[in-house]
Amino acid sequence: MNREQQFELSRRRLLGAGAALGGLALAGCASTPAGPSIGRVVIVGGGFGGATAARYLKMWGGNVDVTLVERNAGFVSCPISNLVLGGHKKMADITRDYDGLRKLGVKVLQGEVTAVDAAGKKVRLAGGGELPYDRLIVSPGVDFMNDAVGGLQPALDSGRILHSWKAGPQTVALRAQLEAMPDGGVFAMAIPKVPYRCPPGPYERACMVASYFKVAKPRAKVLVLDANPEVQSKKALFEKAFKDHYAGILEYRPNNELKEVSGTSGQMVAKLEFDDVKADVLNVIPPQRAGDIARSAGLVNMNNRWVGVNWQTMESTAVPGIHVLGDATFSAPAMPKSGHMANQHAKVAAAAIIELLQGRPASATPVVMNTCYSFVTARDVIHVASVHQYDATEKTFKPVAGSGGVSAGANQIEGRYALSWAENIWGDMLAV
Ligand SMILES: Cc1cc2nc3c(=O)[nH]c(=O)nc-3n(C[C@H](O)[C@H](O)[C@H](O)COP(=O)(O)OP(=O)(O)OC[C@H]3O[C@@H](n4cnc5c(N)ncnc54)[C@H](O)[C@@H]3O)c2cc1C
Repeated sequence: MNREQQFELSRRRLLGAGAALGGLALAGCASTPAGPSIGRVVIVGGGFGGATAARYLKMWGGNVDVTLVERNAGFVSCPISNLVLGGHKKMADITRDYDGLRKLGVKVLQGEVTAVDAAGKKVRLAGGGELPYDRLIVSPGVDFMNDAVGGLQPALDSGRILHSWKAGPQTVALRAQLEAMPDGGVFAMAIPKVPYRCPPGPYERACMVASYFKVAKPRAKVLVLDANPEVQSKKALFEKAFKDHYAGILEYRPNNELKEVSGTSGQMVAKLEFDDVKADVLNVIPPQRAGDIARSAGLVNMNNRWVGVNWQTMESTAVPGIHVLGDATFSAPAMPKSGHMANQHAKVAAAAIIELLQGRPASATPVVMNTCYSFVTARDVIHVASVHQYDATEKTFKPVAGSGGVSAGANQIEGRYALSWAENIWGDMLAV
């Protein structure tokens, strides 16, 4: 092997390891030297998956031509948004811009991708323009199956009911509903059956709203209507938090699937299988599926809801040349739909695309990891962590035995870690 071949091999090993390590060790040391473009990558969606992919394609690929299309002007984080509902953080704390990516040379376009022409290798924009690509990344997050609950669509359209499961204007509006709610009123939240984005998110939300009521509206109640038979993440820790901090305020009801909603603002009714629940504020987290563009692009091929991918490259198993990240994917066993995991998917895809654009195979042994922190009070936090290794025989990621785990108990040190985690992952994805 000559020196050039040896250098190339080391660079590719580094890229593979970078995906495995979450890329943290590689900033600045493995970028491809500037030169002619090795290809054009268009990315749909500037959330956890899409923004991370844009950054790492630039950082690891150097001369990849990257265009990111995002419908919103800036990034608003779902992680930490429950603290805004609790009154412990402001929208400005969870909002960032895309200037860091622009400085890296990513072309960031605010707009909507309305169609994908996989045969012609181009996407269509709402304004009528087209963007050609060599490889396409689609990271659209989730959209909602509102038809699954009678009366939900008109209630959401009128703003009487909010999901607040995409951070932004709905977060602000739900906080306003909570502030307007009378002391002695009821806040009810409906959780859909799994899989949904962020398994611990609803239980964190219940704690954050209860923490607000405890101080500001001590006679108000939080009623958690869970379609699932039990708490879906960090069960014992959440149950302890419900008991230790919110006894008499928060009531958890498993096996309570929402069937229908009715009522007017301030007097909503949630119809369950056996009874009706009246609520001053009704927050419905609807059942979810891959974002609309994944569906219209013909990428949805699992349970009519999610996108199957080749986990070594994140390339769709339905449409070649399109890589799908994050919540939209059909999750591997025990893999959560989380921002952290979307960030990891993006690094696997970025490393793979850089290789594929140059006619080389992707890393055969990717490893990804996840940590989800949840606030149970304004300061006390619990976490769950896991590591997932690609299994060549089963062609999927599998949890690594003995890795990860959960907190021994809620504590304030993890409260500081959680806020640092958020700042670090926003920095990692947005180069801020
Ligand atoms: C309340 C709550 C709390 C959470 N807490 C945590 C947490 O603590 N830790 C954690 O890891 N995860 C958490 N999550 C989950 C996390 O937010 C998601 O898993 C993550 O956002 C998924 O990333 P993604 O790239 O798949 O989608 P997103 O981050 O949602 O990004 C999708 C982007 O695509 C854009 N888009 C979609 N379609 C188009 C189109 N056609 N054209 C242009 N743009 C488009 C959207 O505007 C959006 O910006 C939480 C979620 C919620 C709701």
